[in-house]
Amino acid sequence: MRKKLIAGNWKMNLNVTDTRKMLSELVEKNLNSEVEALICPPFTSLEAASEILKGTNIKLGAQNVSEYEDGARTGEISTNMLKDLSVSYVIIGHSERRTYYGETDEIVNEKIKRTLSQNLKAVLCVGEDEVERRENRHEEVVKSQLEKGLREISENTEDIVIAYEPIWAIGTGNTCSSEDAESMCKFIRSSVANIFSSEIADNMRILYGGSVKPSNVRELMSNENIDGALVGGASLKAEDFQSLVNFGE
Ligand code: PEP
Repeated sequence: MRKKLIAGNWKMNLNVTDTRKMLSELVEKNLNSEVEALICPPFTSLEAASEILKGTNIKLGAQNVSEYEDGARTGEISTNMLKDLSVSYVIIGHSERRTYYGETDEIVNEKIKRTLSQNLKAVLCVGEDEVERRENRHEEVVKSQLEKGLREISENTEDIVIAYEPIWAIGTGNTCSSEDAESMCKFIRSSVANIFSSEIADNMRILYGGSVKPSNVRELMSNENIDGALVGGASLKAEDFQSLVNFGE
């Protein structure tokens, strides 16, 4: 049985003061305990977030990590630094990192290997852009991202989560239809079965991301192959995040 996961990706929003305010409100709210809740604030807010979330069921994640262990890598953050702040998940290969910061599938693969080897969970983001969808190449694009991103990984596969995030649906308000999201998550599961095994694929959580909000979360979560959501804009306010975790209620 795959436990549903609602992950908030704050991106470059909310400073430490805002983080304290949002999370202090959130921890007071009733959240469905059958759903795993995850908050991924900016690096600068991790320490404050880890203090506030300590002793709660809300997990803490980072939005990125270095593929290197330590050393002369100005501006980078290591897995060791994240673990020290009680981080348990890392988002890897978000389309914004691929597009604006040149993260290739090879770099994504190195980051996943580093993350898994340090017993952190990796949320691997995949998804096609608008042109690729229009040209009906979305499956081919996502399959290639999965094959390259998950290359030569054999350990700790239970710590991998996949997030299907069609780029044209991120931050645009254009949610993928529930049918198309389910169809792609099902396709991803069969691709994961080919890369690893059916058993691993059956147990792996596959999230949908792209303009998920309290009003559409319930329908998306009712699909067999959608095991949660990665949410940007609608994860910034405590009441909205509560509503997402409670599937719109
Ligand atoms: C995201 O950044 O992962 C995302 C899905 O953003 P939004 O929910 O704002 O579309």
